Amino acid sequence: MAITFIGIGSNLGERKRYIRLAIEKLSFLGKNLCYSHVYRTKPYGETDQPDFLNMVVKMETDLSPHSLLEHLLSIETELGRKRTKKWGPRTIDLDILFYDNLILTTPKLTIPHPDLQNRVFVLKPLMDIDPSFVHPTLGKTIAELWENLRTRDDQRQETKP
Ligand code: ADP
Ligand code: MG
Repeated sequence: MAITFIGIGSNLGERKRYIRLAIEKLSFLGKNLCYSHVYRTKPYGETDQPDFLNMVVKMETDLSPHSLLEHLLSIETELGRKRTKKWGPRTIDLDILFYDNLILTTPKLTIPHPDLQNRVFVLKPLMDIDPSFVHPTLGKTIAELWENLRTRDDQRQETKP
């Protein structure tokens, strides 16, 4: 049994409904699910698209990382996700953020999810459910990563003309 954190995002169509359906389907992949709040975020990369709703679910699962990924990709397809351009709008995006303390880099799957320490819409929901979880490669807790990101963002704000 492993503990995994799944990042959920939606910015197309009935976003709340897609998130609700995704959670329902996730509940068949594990047990003891914990839910963050849902946050509204401006899109990353391509900015000319609707705002995202983002949240994180923590759960226990018996699935291997690759099998979990396959299930997540089929849920995305079931919920009508069409893969168009990178960072384009999507009905639902399901990412494996962490899987226990596992560190994995393969062409199909990278765990921990790359760049999560730079993303407010990942760290904020993680703060709701497990601030003391330690990032296995960075060796810092979610709370520390959140604090780092906030201070960095504050500095950026201050240096704006
Ligand atoms: P993104 O989430 O970065 O916007 P996509 O959702 O389009 O990108 O995912 C593209 C591919 O990313 C997936 O098909 C999957 O093979 C790969 N991938 C690599 N690491 C992960 C991970 N930790 N969680 C989910 N997908 C991942
Ligand atoms: Mg994804």
